Amino acid sequence: MKVLVLNCGSSSVKYKLYDTDANIVLAEGLAERIGMQGSRIKHLGLGENIKISIEYALSGHEEAIKTVLHLFTHDNYGVIKNIDEIQAVGHRILHGGERFSSPVAIDNEVLDLLIQCVELAPLHMQHNIAGIKICQKLINHATQVAVFDTEFHQTMPDYAYIYPIPYDYYKKYKVRKYGFHGISHKYVAQRVAEILCDKSKVEDLKIISCHLGNGASLCAIKSGKSIDTTMGLTPLAGLMMGTRSGDIDPAVIPFLAEKERISLEEVVKVLNEKSGVLGIFGASSDFRDVIKDAGAGNDRARLALDMFIYRVAKSIGSLIPVMGGLDILVFTAGIGENSSEIRRRICEKFVNIGIEIDEQLNLENGAEIEISTVNSTVKVLVIPTDEEKMIAQETISVAKCCSSHKMIS
Ligand code: ADP
Repeated sequence: MKVLVLNCGSSSVKYKLYDTDANIVLAEGLAERIGMQGSRIKHLGLGENIKISIEYALSGHEEAIKTVLHLFTHDNYGVIKNIDEIQAVGHRILHGGERFSSPVAIDNEVLDLLIQCVELAPLHMQHNIAGIKICQKLINHATQVAVFDTEFHQTMPDYAYIYPIPYDYYKKYKVRKYGFHGISHKYVAQRVAEILCDKSKVEDLKIISCHLGNGASLCAIKSGKSIDTTMGLTPLAGLMMGTRSGDIDPAVIPFLAEKERISLEEVVKVLNEKSGVLGIFGASSDFRDVIKDAGAGNDRARLALDMFIYRVAKSIGSLIPVMGGLDILVFTAGIGENSSEIRRRICEKFVNIGIEIDEQLNLENGAEIEISTVNSTVKVLVIPTDEEKMIAQETISVAKCCSSHKMIS
């Protein structure tokens, strides 16, 4: 089956085309700066080892997706003969609210429900939905499937997801913790099960998945289900991130609005875009820069790094009693997969509970590997995440289910 995975952002469209029968990626890429000067598509046609970066005047998302589809069948760069070969499109959707606890085929009713979720994450959701509508128009024959970043966390118990504010706000507005990075945390849980093979044992496992990228979150996974996570109503909550503050005293918001004479929205924008590691270090949100400058004696870089590690470790600690223990600690995403220094420094904070990593194994980066010693009380793994593969997998199962329903009826 040929499956297209799409992630539509405000000015970008990330895509990956799979041939799931041959188990290969046919093409992948990124259309960026959509609607701006210098818009371009970076395209990789893996079948033929094609790597191109072309400037296109992409006035909007529809033109971007049209151009990408054209590249799939291009005389020189093409990987399929006809767009009709694409049988399903998996859309990465940021927020499914309480309505969606599993991936779903998109029909008009589902689209209406998705539109109701826009108010929970307007910036992302309007573009996610635009992507769906464009594909309904351009690849009409394919089953459109919504795969949510929130759905994996729908198994959290109420005492974990309700905020301690008047209960009426939850009832009236559905203000609660939802959690994000669910596609990545689910992939990690699935890989742990595959790596350990013994399914019966996996049922009982207590895992903490550390997705440490530009955005960062932890997830407590018990018996394969998310039972708590660090992000909240929005991805601003929880850990300190590249540019996001994570958890702070909410009273800081009106205080800063008054002192800086800016609106509440502007303060929230500062917390989303100018805070976290960037806010402390000042020069960059990229952890490679922070690590390099901290090593060269820059005290603000040192502080940003110390704060990040301290906060990740503190949050891991808070999730251990939630599960009644910890069997497996997994590091994933840009920092989790590639920074042996950050992994080592986080694990060092748990020496007292018997976590021990092998310094040599931990130097390996970007690969799937167990880095704990045989004496460690907790297995520590590095698992490179593959959210697109997870979306493709979910999309296929929904599409297959739809086609068998069609055959029955
Ligand atoms: P996102 O998908 O949220 O944009 P990624 O998972 O791609 O984020 O992670 C991006 C982050 O990973 C960046 O902050 C980058 O600096 C960091 N990163 C990548 N490689 C390394 C490395 N070798 N050492 C430290 N950080 C790294």
